[in-house]
Amino acid sequence: MKNLYSILLLVLMLTSCSTRYRVGTVSNNVCKTLKEKVVIVPVFVESEYTHVWSEYDIQSTLDSIDRAKTWIVNQAFKRNKTLSIEVAYLKMDSITPVKEEFQFKTLSGTLFKYINLSKGIKMVDNWADASAKKYAKRLPPETSKEILSNNKLNDSERLIARMKDLYGTDNIVLMYFINNYYENEISVVLHSGDTMHVEYGVVSAKSSSVIAHEFLHVFGALDMYITPFDRRIIHRMKKRKAMRQFPQEIMAFTYRDLQKLEISPLTEYLIGWSPTLDKKLAKRFLWRRFRPVDY
Ligand SMILES: [Zn+2]
Repeated sequence: MKNLYSILLLVLMLTSCSTRYRVGTVSNNVCKTLKEKVVIVPVFVESEYTHVWSEYDIQSTLDSIDRAKTWIVNQAFKRNKTLSIEVAYLKMDSITPVKEEFQFKTLSGTLFKYINLSKGIKMVDNWADASAKKYAKRLPPETSKEILSNNKLNDSERLIARMKDLYGTDNIVLMYFINNYYENEISVVLHSGDTMHVEYGVVSAKSSSVIAHEFLHVFGALDMYITPFDRRIIHRMKKRKAMRQFPQEIMAFTYRDLQKLEISPLTEYLIGWSPTLDKKLAKRFLWRRFRPVDY
């Protein structure tokens, strides 16, 4: 567990405005801002190299999702934000695990197989798409003409489109769960900062704090702890400062009791709960000379 960490591909995209920039994960891809009706779609996946999902494992993970959900809704409530979160249970068999193998045995083994991370991401995307395809077969038949006519949709995207249709909301959080609770394995959210593929999480822990942390990534939150991707000293220094400033931040201290964690003003901005980011904070945590845009 202690080696468990999650990554997020951070893309800082410059806008046409010369003195303001937008953070690539903010208001981006499928889940733009954390508000109104949100549906979590948990897809349980097992393979030869991950543990089999027992009924108990699945139930305890669903309990953790529920605790994460309640915590996030309470955080929104405290800030007068309208938010409801539903977990997708269309039928009981929607939580029966699908079987899909990673190309190189495990999530981390596949993601970090090559120095070129984009190759690993592509392989994990293929795994996620294949799992989504199997999961989607259990859903009621498609009726949307828009979906039937678009053959270019990949399968995670198709699954999200189906769920949007079934639940009547754009905020679909696709989370794949693998049963690696007792192993050192990562949890990850991919594509939160790009639009090449729909964003999704792969969660290998049953902790409600980790689930809430990954959930916030999907809506644009960034890691505030030091990851292997913070190779420059300046980035590590900025994160240390941010961690000192926000000692209860969920994006920094993921392995603590969820009830002792908080959402800092920085994360509030990234997930769309605050339209502006304080100038000093922006300078402290983000790596640009200019200020991020207001929403
Ligand atoms: Zn993270």
